[in-house]
Amino acid sequence: MDTSINDLNQVERAVSVCVDCSLSETRNRAVPGEGSANTQILFVGEAPGYNEDMQARPFVGRAGTFLNELLKSVQLEREEVFITNIVKCRPPNNRDPESTEIAECKKYLDKQIEILEPKIIVTLGKHSLNKFLPGQKIGSHHGKPQVVDGQTILPMYHPAAALHNGSLRKVILNDFREIRKVLDGKRIETIREKDIREQLNLF
Ligand code: URA
Repeated sequence: MDTSINDLNQVERAVSVCVDCSLSETRNRAVPGEGSANTQILFVGEAPGYNEDMQARPFVGRAGTFLNELLKSVQLEREEVFITNIVKCRPPNNRDPESTEIAECKKYLDKQIEILEPKIIVTLGKHSLNKFLPGQKIGSHHGKPQVVDGQTILPMYHPAAALHNGSLRKVILNDFREIRKVLDGKRIETIREKDIREQLNLF
């Protein structure tokens, strides 16, 4: 990607014509992401699905309807946040994105993060969590804000998970309340602090 890219519209244009991985051969439209350029909150999902690929907009299908509901539950509107994905093009048949595709697409998300400088990144799902905490499981991290390399992240289950498992709905709604606490200045321990605490068996 052109290193002179320094605003979100330029990222959007670069994504929409990207042919750096084979997902470009099967996508209908690339989905760069959308929302406020002045937001403190960045949501990062996994990959566009059928509806997103048709509309070139993130989270506009059933998972998106639940995401909108979750945002409303903490008095946020879609327009106030920025929403994007780990990979910007739909994998065929909604399969998981492959590591090569994630690696090729990384430059766009990194640029979006650099431009937005979000106070908090809410990771939705495993692939998004693993960008910041490789190899980690959502079950151990959901709803717990943490600082990774100076960036506050808040891991969440993917909203689509609640569509398949009703009991996760309440968990996700509860985890979403952490967003407000972080914005209101809740102190968050760094991964390093957490490691030390666990090594010393302190609670
Ligand atoms: N699921 C995602 O992870 N992203 C979308 O944009 C839609 C569904």
